Amino acid sequence: MFDEGVRWDGQAVGVDDGALPGLQRVGFVRSVRSPQFEGMTFHEVLCKSALNKVPAASALPFRFTVNGYRGCSHACRYCFARPTHEYLDLDCGSDFDTQVVVKTNVADVLRRELRRPSWTRETVALGTNTDPYQRAEGRYALMPGIIEALAGSGTPFSILTKGTLLRRDLGLIADASDRVPVSVAVSLAVGDDDLHREVEPGTPSPQARLGLISAIREAGLECHVMVAPVLPHLTDSVEHLDTLLGRIAAAGASGVTVFGLHLRGSTRGWFMDWLGRTHPGLVGDYQRLYRRGAYLPADYRDMLRARVAPLVARHGLARQARMVPVAAPETAAEPAVVQPTLF
Ligand code: SF4
Repeated sequence: MFDEGVRWDGQAVGVDDGALPGLQRVGFVRSVRSPQFEGMTFHEVLCKSALNKVPAASALPFRFTVNGYRGCSHACRYCFARPTHEYLDLDCGSDFDTQVVVKTNVADVLRRELRRPSWTRETVALGTNTDPYQRAEGRYALMPGIIEALAGSGTPFSILTKGTLLRRDLGLIADASDRVPVSVAVSLAVGDDDLHREVEPGTPSPQARLGLISAIREAGLECHVMVAPVLPHLTDSVEHLDTLLGRIAAAGASGVTVFGLHLRGSTRGWFMDWLGRTHPGLVGDYQRLYRRGAYLPADYRDMLRARVAPLVARHGLARQARMVPVAAPETAAEPAVVQPTLF
């Protein structure tokens, strides 16, 4: 039941004090809707911890993450963080896209954790299970507090995003990079506008993200680009990759990491439903490619590597793969970590 009498930043909003059991587990306070974010529900929670320790077995290039949100309005069909929503008793499909958990106190909790004498100032990855610059960040503005807390404590950090909202914090991030090592990466793997609208419907356009890459470079920061995931038979042609890498290079990117799609857990069903509706002729090909599990077979990965390497070199993007965040669970109860193939 929503009460239209409550105000939120000058907007009429609805508030629901009931919550799913999964949300109660993570400190639920209230659910909020706003006309400005049609179709979205924000579940505000008070988190008990902000720093998440990545299990050592994950082999990821970082051991700590911070996620101010859970769920992501960018709504990428292939998002490998989708299964993490099931831990909250929400589904991995439209709930992941429209029911976003907001840790409203995340910066305060993080500041406290970073003050502990035991904190060793290891690099913290932002943008692992959710995009830190998704639409909700325009309202909740969690990132400035997180960045200040990390830089103020002498903690290096990395950011991965598709969100052009990062422009808002460029000055802050540039200042932070004077105090601690900072890595910024933009994700851009679909250059075709029609396919972008189909497969990443909540994200800024490819052109807008190219503009973001340029803005990051103009702010004096390196900008790595995640050309991932490459979608078999949709974005893996030489023509698409060549054109996209050329645009990324022209935008000023410092380097790229490229890897193919993996379909883990319930993401697989959500993605394949979409594929069946939009590209039914490819369903059989995908079933064959992923018949052994979540990852592309070695011969496909070898083909992609051989195809991409000369293009990356030709566009002057052949730098060593940098530390970039990918999906990691927030608790031991959540799904296993993904290990991508890095180029
Ligand atoms: S932007 Fe990232 S976290 Fe958000 S839906 Fe897309 S892949 Fe998932």
